[in-house]
This record gives sequence, structure tokens and C-alpha cells, in this order.
Amino acid sequence: MFAGVSGKMKEKTLRLAAAVCLAVSAALLSICINQAIRLSRLEKTAAAETSKLEQAQSQIGELKKELAEKEKPGGNVPTAAARKFSYDAKKVQGSGPKIAYLTFDDGPTKNTPLLLSTLKSLNVRATFFVVGVNCQKFPDAVRQEASAGHAVGIHSWTHQYSYIYASMTDFMQDFNRLRNYVTQQLGRGPDICRFPGGTNNTVSLRYGRDHIMRQVVRQVESMNIRPIDWNVSPEDAVERVPSSGVIVRRVIRQTGGQHRPVILLHDLSRSTNTVYAVPQIVRSLRAKGYSFGILTAETQAVMFEPS
Ligand code: ZN
Repeated sequence: MFAGVSGKMKEKTLRLAAAVCLAVSAALLSICINQAIRLSRLEKTAAAETSKLEQAQSQIGELKKELAEKEKPGGNVPTAAARKFSYDAKKVQGSGPKIAYLTFDDGPTKNTPLLLSTLKSLNVRATFFVVGVNCQKFPDAVRQEASAGHAVGIHSWTHQYSYIYASMTDFMQDFNRLRNYVTQQLGRGPDICRFPGGTNNTVSLRYGRDHIMRQVVRQVESMNIRPIDWNVSPEDAVERVPSSGVIVRRVIRQTGGQHRPVILLHDLSRSTNTVYAVPQIVRSLRAKGYSFGILTAETQAVMFEPS
């Protein structure tokens, strides 16, 4: 009899224990599920935050690159050097009518006709600093540029740094070859030039001895040719060319409130995005009160301190 009662009690106890276990397991399972859901939500939030952080880091990287470019010798640093064509850069930059100068280096190329028709449709005149070897490939270009009212200046015949900056003799040989060519094409000598790399460039120091740029500037000015640099450079000639939207934004941002922005653009065969950027650059600057001019020896435009 006692054994029967004890057996029943055992069974009851076991059933109770099983029920308790089941309840505890269910509670634990529910906690686990809730935790898993919370974890998954947290993971999603973390992934979104990481992606935002990565975007911000990439933007910081871009800005750092741009800053490094500007701080390079030959970057956007106007100076008022005491020389034949000297002027007070601050006075010029900060007063008078707002005139923007679009300049196109390194052409002519297959893009030049489209560039010329774009400028014509916008009723804008610009300045072309041409390269002799390219003029030979497009023999009508220089005359077409000049007859459309644009200015044509000397850039370089070969554009080979190692050759032109090796010595004054080499530089002047290259320079005069293009000067003669342009004179022959236009029936008058060019009165402006832009040195490859600008008046202040570290490349010339690598190839030429004793600060060749200082001699070059003196020599060129004695020929009544004015060297002109730039103070707006959207870096449109780099290998991975920026989109036209990026070119426009950089030009507008760098122009800021300058009264005489000289905008360095390129007429290279890979510079179609530059051509596409021109209408928006023109419209945006006009909306800010700028007119457009061409560079001459009389223009009070930016020139760097010779390296
Ligand atoms: Zn160039």
C-alpha cells in the first residue's frame, strides 16, 4: 500500500518537474528569440552607420587630395612679382568688373571643332595656348580659333619637359618654332604664352640648372610676350578624367569671389567632358555677374613667382 502511494507521489513529482522544465525552456526560448531579433536590428544599424562612415572617409580623402594639389608648387597661388608685367594682384583680384578668362591648353585636337562651336553658341571668347606638334595635325585650327575672335598664345612646340627645360637654348628653340608658326598662320606675332607646368613648376628644376624659369621669363618678356598662369584649375587633364559635373563644380567653387579668374582647362583628345562642362560653367558664372574676356599682353592676369 505504502509502495503504491509512494509511486504515485513520484509520478506527480516527475510530472511537475517536467512541466516546470517545459515552462523554463519556453521562457528561455522566447528570451533567445527576442535577443536574436534585437541583435539582427543592431547589426543592420551598424552596417548602415559603417557605410555612412566609409562615405565620409572617402569624401575626406577626395578633399585631402585636392588640398595637396593646391599646395603643390605651381598650384593656385597668385603672386605680384616685380618685373616688366608686374601689377598689384590683390587690387586687380578684388575690384573692377568681374571678368572670367577661359583658357584651353594643349590643343588643337579632334575636340577643337566641337569646342569652337560650343563657344560660338554661347557667344563666349576664350584663349587657346596651343602645342605645335598638334597644330601640324590640325593645320586649320589656329586660323579658325583666331578668326572666331579667340586669343592664341604659345604653349610649346613639343611639350616635352625633359627637352624644353634642359637648357635655355633648347627652350628658346622650341618656343621660337611655335612663335614662328603662329606668326605665319595669323600674320602677327603672339603676345601671350603659358609655360608647360606654369611659371612656377618643380619639373623644370629637375631638368634645367640654375632656376631656368627665371631666365625663361626674362627672355620671353624681353620679346614683349606676357607669360600667364592661372588661379582656377579643375584638374580636367588627369588620366581618369573627371565628369563634366565635377569640372563645373570645381570651377565654380575655386572661382569663388575672384574678380579675374583665369580658368585652366584643356583641349586634349580625352577632354570631351571639358567641352560638355563649358555651357554650364558659362551659365553659372554669368549668373554670378561675370563677363568673359580673352587674354592679351595688357591683361592684368595671374602669374606665379618663377621657380
Ligand atoms: Zn600643357
